[in-house]
Amino acid sequence: MKILVPVKRLLDYNVKPRVKSDGSGIDLAGAKMSMNPFDEIAVEEAVRLKEKGVATEVIAVSCGPTACQETLRTAMAIGADRAILVESADELQPLAVAKLLKALVDKEQPGLVILGKQAIDDDCNQTGQMLAALAGLPQATFASKVEVADGKAVITREVDGGLERLEVKLPAIVTTDLRLNEPRYVTLPNIMKAKKKTLDIVKPAELGVDVAPRIKTLKVVEPPKRGAGVKVPDVATLVAKLKNEAKVI
Ligand code: AMP
Repeated sequence: MKILVPVKRLLDYNVKPRVKSDGSGIDLAGAKMSMNPFDEIAVEEAVRLKEKGVATEVIAVSCGPTACQETLRTAMAIGADRAILVESADELQPLAVAKLLKALVDKEQPGLVILGKQAIDDDCNQTGQMLAALAGLPQATFASKVEVADGKAVITREVDGGLERLEVKLPAIVTTDLRLNEPRYVTLPNIMKAKKKTLDIVKPAELGVDVAPRIKTLKVVEPPKRGAGVKVPDVATLVAKLKNEAKVI
C-alpha cells in the first residue's frame, strides 16, 4: 500500500509574520520557511506505518514554487521514499491544491492520504476535506491515533466529551492532529540519503488542473498593538479600576 503525504512549505512557526505595507498579504521575502508542523506529523505517521510493514511506499507531495523541493527533501529525510513537486509560482488556494492532489491520487492510487489538519499560515482546514469530496473517498479528520488492518483504518479523534473512534474503508483520507505523534529528529546521514531520492516535477497543466484563485484577499492587517500595562499598589485599587475605569465588574 502506498501512502501519499501532502506537505506545505510556509513561514516557520517561530517567525513573527510581517504584513506587507500595501496590506496585500504577508511579506515572505528572505523569511525562514519550513514544513507545516501538522505535515511533519503526517510524514512521521506514514513512515511509522511503513516501518510496521503496513505500507510499502511513502510519497511526499508539495504544490508550490521551486523552493518546495527543500521541504520535500526534509520529508524524505524523515523517511518518505520519493517526492513529487507540483510546481507553480501562482497562489494556490485549498481548492486548487485539492484538485492537484485528486489528480495525483488517480495516478498513484494510494491506500491512504495523510494530510495535516490545517496549514498554520492560512488556517483554512479545507484541503483534506475537499480532496475527500473530489476523490469520492471516506475521510477521518483530526486523527490522534491511526490503526490500519484488513483494508480498513480505525481513527481515534479527540472530541469535546472524550475520544471518538471512526472506521473507514481504504482508500481513505486522514488528517493529523497535534498529538498523533512526535516527529523524529532528522539526522545528517538521513539528510544526505534524502538528496539521492527521486523527486519528480510536474506542472498543474500536465495534471489537467486549473489553479486560478477563486477567493480574493481584500486586506491583511496587523492585530492591534496591546497598550502597556500598569502596576497597582493593592487589591482595593485593582477592584476600583476594574469597576470605575474598565467597567467590567
Ligand atoms: P489547509 O486546508 O490550507 O489548512 O491545509 C491542510 C493540509 O493540506 C496541509 O496540512 C497539507 O497537508 C495540505 N496542503 C495544503 N496546501 C498544500 C500545498 N500547497 N502543498 C501540499 N500540501 C498542501
